[in-house]
Amino acid sequence: MGTIIKGGRVVTASDSFEADVRIDGEKITAIGKNLEAGNGDETIDANGRWIIPGGIDPHVHLELPFMGTISKDDFDTGTQCALAGGTTTLIDFAIPPKGESMLKIIDDWDAKAKDKARCDYTYHAAVTDWNDQIAEEIPRVVKERGINSFKIFLAYYGVFGLNDDEAFRVVRAVKEAGGIVLVHAVNGNVLTAMATEMIANGQGEPIYHALSQPPEAEGEATGRIIRFTEIENGSVYIVHTTAIDALEEINAGRQRGKATVLGETCTQYFFLNQDLYELPNWEGAKYVLSPPLRPKEHSEALWKALNNHTIETIGTDHCSFDYNGQKNLKGTLPDGTPFDATKDFRFIPNGFNGIEERLMMMYTYGVKDGRISPERWVATCCTNAAKVFGLWPRKGTIAVGSDADIVLWDPDCSGTISAKTHKSAADYNVYEGYEIRGRATTTFVRGKVAYRDGEVLAEPGSGRFLKRGPFSAHSI
Ligand SMILES: [Zn+2]
Repeated sequence: MGTIIKGGRVVTASDSFEADVRIDGEKITAIGKNLEAGNGDETIDANGRWIIPGGIDPHVHLELPFMGTISKDDFDTGTQCALAGGTTTLIDFAIPPKGESMLKIIDDWDAKAKDKARCDYTYHAAVTDWNDQIAEEIPRVVKERGINSFKIFLAYYGVFGLNDDEAFRVVRAVKEAGGIVLVHAVNGNVLTAMATEMIANGQGEPIYHALSQPPEAEGEATGRIIRFTEIENGSVYIVHTTAIDALEEINAGRQRGKATVLGETCTQYFFLNQDLYELPNWEGAKYVLSPPLRPKEHSEALWKALNNHTIETIGTDHCSFDYNGQKNLKGTLPDGTPFDATKDFRFIPNGFNGIEERLMMMYTYGVKDGRISPERWVATCCTNAAKVFGLWPRKGTIAVGSDADIVLWDPDCSGTISAKTHKSAADYNVYEGYEIRGRATTTFVRGKVAYRDGEVLAEPGSGRFLKRGPFSAHSI
């Protein structure tokens, strides 16, 4: 007893063609013209639909603690966003406070995800400290937990950030363990100096959040960590790239070829720009995230970077907060000092939605508007993350033997994004009012229909943690 998806157009990272797809159990078992249904097989009509691999969002934060509040979407609502948007795998970040064990924090993340997730998931392990325990844990995280990717921050000293000495040691340790280093690349000293000065001058509004993290500070840190990686002939993946300055560094590193250098960006950086921070009534706080939204010329450069392979993956950095009650956070620091996000941009919770909208936005304004090919859309949204993070070919493609994570995509619909209809628990949507011209109509996770026509059918807890293999530089 299997399922045959009939009459659709298969679109993968490399080609597209008319074919039927057969599913048995959790796997794709046949692809071809005119597949015959046997006794007891179910047939699903995919006429006029594209058949694409389920999306993989390589950069999300669910139920993330931030200064006494917690990001709004958890593994339940976050995975509902995923299924509704045509995404079937999420990669979160297990982030320990300094001094904490990485193995322990991965257990904590397992506890948050296990009973709630409605699609498959895994995590990157963040390294927020350097000491003997961390050095000993890095190879164990790869071998015992099946996590091959380690995130470091070059900013936020004292909280998550690593200095150059520590960052270099992580690059070396991760290379030895067979992993890849993910980097939040912004020069932390520049950021702290500029932000401190702005606050001292009474410049606490959201626009100063952006102005305190200039594109040059992102470019500098990107170039620095790439050079560190080249010393070890390691592998580095720059997360949420936003700036021309950083794209130039990634491109230069790829040209030199001494290290594997990969670039990620996020949906919002193509569409939302720095001027949003100047909206009246402090509405700019809705758009605060790091790195910040940039002036429009950087968005234009990102479209080019998608096509010339400087950027290979698109994530979201989904980390949603309510506008009312969270973005305007007030509280007290551990040392007793009161803070007020409405007066000091440094305390505005960073992040917003994106998991549900990623494929629709990139399809509508990328594929439909002729900026990228359908195959490049699938590569950057579904396939490349699987290759980089040790999930391919189990995930990220339509092939015999792969998990039946399949999306039936309506390539010609019309609709409008709105917080009134989104699956996120947050009270606003940064893409409010954007028109979309394509969407997921049915989403399968490992052979089961998990979403259909607006309704999430997968149960909480049906999603599985995905153990991944060591990093290998697949050609992507
Ligand atoms: Zn992030």
